[in-house]
Amino acid sequence: MTFKSLGVIDPILKAIEAEGYSHPTPIQEQSIPILLQGKDLLGCAQTGTGKTAAFAIPILQHIYNNPQQSKGRRKIRALIVTPTRELAIQIADSFTTYGKYTGIRNTVIFGGVKQLAQTQSLRQGVEILIATPGRLLDLMEQGFITLSDIEFSVLDEADRMLDMGFIHDIRKIIAKLPVKRQSLFFSATMPPDIVRLSQKILGNPEKVTVKPEQTTAEKVEQFLYYVSKKDKPKLLLHILKTDDVGSVLIFSRTKHGANKIVKILDKASIVSEAIHSNKSQGARQRALSNFKSGQTKVLIATDIAARGIDIDDLSHVINFDLPNIPETYIHRIGRTGRAGASGIALSFCDAEERAYLKDIQKLIGQTITIAEENPFEDDGTQVEVKKSVKPNGSKKQFQRRRSPNSSNAGGSENQQKGRRTFSRRPR
Ligand code: AMP
Repeated sequence: MTFKSLGVIDPILKAIEAEGYSHPTPIQEQSIPILLQGKDLLGCAQTGTGKTAAFAIPILQHIYNNPQQSKGRRKIRALIVTPTRELAIQIADSFTTYGKYTGIRNTVIFGGVKQLAQTQSLRQGVEILIATPGRLLDLMEQGFITLSDIEFSVLDEADRMLDMGFIHDIRKIIAKLPVKRQSLFFSATMPPDIVRLSQKILGNPEKVTVKPEQTTAEKVEQFLYYVSKKDKPKLLLHILKTDDVGSVLIFSRTKHGANKIVKILDKASIVSEAIHSNKSQGARQRALSNFKSGQTKVLIATDIAARGIDIDDLSHVINFDLPNIPETYIHRIGRTGRAGASGIALSFCDAEERAYLKDIQKLIGQTITIAEENPFEDDGTQVEVKKSVKPNGSKKQFQRRRSPNSSNAGGSENQQKGRRTFSRRPR
């Protein structure tokens, strides 16, 4: 299957080729023909599957093939609503990339920054608008934006949008859209409230589901470190200094925790930057572009800030803290191993996080391999160790860990067998 055989037109094909995409990803293969036929689409897919191009290409193609009839300023014909600024910027970049030979213009608007540059760009006229909900409504109320010419509406990451409390904003935006339009709705998960919302927005949609979330977990190599809370910084430094780590994204559950990690690394002369919602938009963008360009090798992020971060060459994800929501673990490790590449995810687990680990392993349907080299292996906690056979028929037993820093510290023989080193570069 090629993009050409999907019916993609030459100016877009040229841009896709320049990006080095040889074949469509599964979501692109399934969605592009449906969207080129003008049908509504309900897509169950997460970021990292190539879903941006799956909707951006047909939208660009439609606008290119059906130029605006009226003279004067360009009208906004496609609206993409997405939960975070980072994601909005990335989507706009994708439209610019895929549309660079079409002459079609886009702009991106989001909160947390002054509106002047955004309103100026809107005044110049764009066909495609990418927006976060709050700023969109704000600029609509001020009269800078009208949605009356929208032919395409895309609601991206709908589940995250609801999690973040955007439901009322979304309803208000939908109410302003013309009835006659093509609607696209993407969500990584489809709980009942998302299904209800999609029914309000979509007519009679075609449904496309790619890769249940679990498959991300399959292509990323995952390793686990049992470590006490107080030893986590030492373990992190050990990994960053001794292993073949390229660019690494470290997840912290809290903003405070993220800042603390930057300080710890700084003391060890490892340059890093943190992104979270207390940082200004400018600081977040700077940190992200320094990381993307390779100037900083270590980026520390909270879950919300990292949502949708798109870095092609990310070698490692480190979960300094385990997330308390198991799905978040899949989102996190999905930052590496993008678009078919392999990646490595390392997770630190302290005594308090073992319950989270249990939930995560249940969700991904696998036991995360224990890393071979862990000089700070947690000691002094009672650890539940699975035993395959027990004479009395019981499947589990509690076993006390050995002392730390011994070469075979912690873990049963069963676990030792499952151990592997991770220090090789992906791809
Ligand atoms: P997305 O799910 O839209 O965030 O895309 C994830 C990543 O896949 C981005 O870095 C894209 O540049 C990349 N990508 C999208 N489509 C393709 C393709 N057909 N071949 C290779 N990479 C792709």
